[in-house]
Parts: sequence; structure tokens; C-alpha cells
Amino acid sequence: MKIGFIGLGNMGAPMAANLTAAGHEVTGFDLTAPCPEGVTKAETAADVAKGADVVITMLPNGAILRSVADEVLPLMAEGSVLCDCSTVDVESARAVADKANQTGVLAIDAPVSGGIGGAAAGTLTFMAGGSDEAFAKVDPLFDIMGQKAVHCGASGAGQAAKICNNMILGVTMIATCEAFALADKLGLDRQKMFDVVSTSSGYSWTMNAYCPAPGVGPQSPADNDYKPGFASDLMLKDLRLSQQAAEAADADTPMGQIATALYEQFVEKENGAGTDFSAMLPRFEKRGRK
Ligand code: NAD
Repeated sequence: MKIGFIGLGNMGAPMAANLTAAGHEVTGFDLTAPCPEGVTKAETAADVAKGADVVITMLPNGAILRSVADEVLPLMAEGSVLCDCSTVDVESARAVADKANQTGVLAIDAPVSGGIGGAAAGTLTFMAGGSDEAFAKVDPLFDIMGQKAVHCGASGAGQAAKICNNMILGVTMIATCEAFALADKLGLDRQKMFDVVSTSSGYSWTMNAYCPAPGVGPQSPADNDYKPGFASDLMLKDLRLSQQAAEAADADTPMGQIATALYEQFVEKENGAGTDFSAMLPRFEKRGRK
């Protein structure tokens, strides 16, 4: 397959590299990042689009996705697929799909879970929104870049799933961190806390697989001085998307709202930017009731 890849940052570069390693012809474009080995460098996004069976985008946000889509869609062949793997707002995903459909291009929103490690190892989870035809065309590529792809529904459904998943993630990380900080103050040993909670009804991915307490549980960013991993700023971005979606859909999400406010404070007022999102634990450690 001839694949175009736009956005070769932390996630895009290893994803593109896995596609070339599997024998696909990949042409890539990024404003600043270099092309990984095996990917042919294009000078513009438009050059990537010409002749491509599939164009994959892995970009920072919805506004950038919309402008890149405006540039590439007119050049893409009828029946080819624009597959956006970035995490963006549901509205942008649907707007891009509408534009694509007008020009006979198939569109799919397919954000991912699994982080930089999953991108490098080819073990991402894809959550996809779009037609059956579009999904069928890109599913073999999801198999290369990931371990699981769920077709969630029509355009926007992938982003909806991603936003809901990450709202749960933000809320549970905060709950796990505040519980550790409370346990400390109650004199409970952290390893004992982990041993109990990870096998009791308080268990979660944030406790069991990504424990925010250093030296406890499997290796996680907490064991590496809270270097990301998944940065607090990205968590804040996704929580904001969840609240934007909740506002638009008139959904009551009080826990999501509190998690957004806490990460906002952490990132913007407490130097949390650039630290892993599990660094909420040292934040709580320093705080009292007020
Ligand atoms: P990144 O900042 O490392 O990469 C984004 C790349 O897009 C950059 O290299 C940038 O130069 C490029 N870019 C920006 N505007 C462009 C344009 N107009 N044309 C071409 N290239 C352009 O970010 P990332 O960590 O790779 O994340 C990409 C997306 O994946 C984001 O939407 C993020 O929310 C999502 N995501 C990230 C992770 C993670 O752990 N990093 C996990 C899941 C999802």
C-alpha cells in the first residue's frame, strides 16, 4: 500500500517506522521533526497526499488537523482514506469526515491508547469512527501498528471513545494519588497499600499498571522521577476535550470537571507541565486539608 504520514512526532515517527518495517511504502511530512529511517521525506503535506492509498495524520490538535485536511483532501484520489490518529475534538473529526466525503475520500477517526511505548512496540489500541468500508481498508494497518482496533461507530465515535476513556483515566489517577497521600498520613506502608488495593475493589489501571508511588508495583514513570510517560499537559488537553464534548452534548460530568480543574491548576500554576500525569502524587503529598 502507498501510505502518506503527516505528523512524525513522538507517536507518529514510530508508527510510520512500523509501517515501513512491514513492507509498506511510506512518504512522510512534518513541519519540524525528521523522517524515521525507511520513510521517504516529502516537502509538503500536499506531496504526501498525491497517489496515496491512505493518508495517516498524527497531529497536535483539531485546528491543525482541519488545516492539514483542507490542504490534502483536494489532492487525494476517490476511494482513498484519510485516517486521523490524533486526539482531537469530536466536532473537528466530524467536520473533516464531512469534507472528505464531499470529495469522494473515505475518512476515519482512529485515536490511540498505549503511549509512546505502545507506538514503538506496535501494540497500540485503535478506537475508530467511520464507515465499514473505510474501516476495512485501514484495519490491516491497525494490525501492524497496534494489538487491537475497535470499530466504535460512525465518524467521531473513535474520538468520543478516546475522550471518555481519558476522562476515566484522569479521574482515577487523581483518586489513586489522593488515596496514597491519605494512606501516608494514616501511617500505612505504601507497599501494603498497593498489595491491598491492587487486589481489592479499589483496583484500577492507574494503581495496578501505572502506580504513581515510586518503588511500588510495576515499573512506571514514578520510578523515573516522573518523567513522561504521558505528560500532565496532554492529560489536561484530553480532559478539556471531554468537558468541551460534555458541554456540547449537555452531559453532567462533575468528576471530569473537577479533574480538569485540578490538572489545570497543576499544569498552569504549580509547574506540573512536562511532568508525568502521575506526579499528582507528590503534589498531594505536600498538601494539607486546605
Ligand atoms: P508531538 O508534538 O510529538 O508530534 C506532533 C507532530 O506534528 C510534531 O512533530 C509537529 O511538528 C507536527 N506538526 C504540527 N503541525 C503540523 C503541520 N501543519 N504539518 C505537519 N506536521 C505538523 O505529539 P505526539 O506525542 O506525537 O502526539 C500526537 C497526537 O497523538 C496528539 O493528538 C496526542 O494527543 C495524541 N496522543 C499522544 C500520546 C502520547 O503518549 N504522546 C498518546 C496517545 C495519543
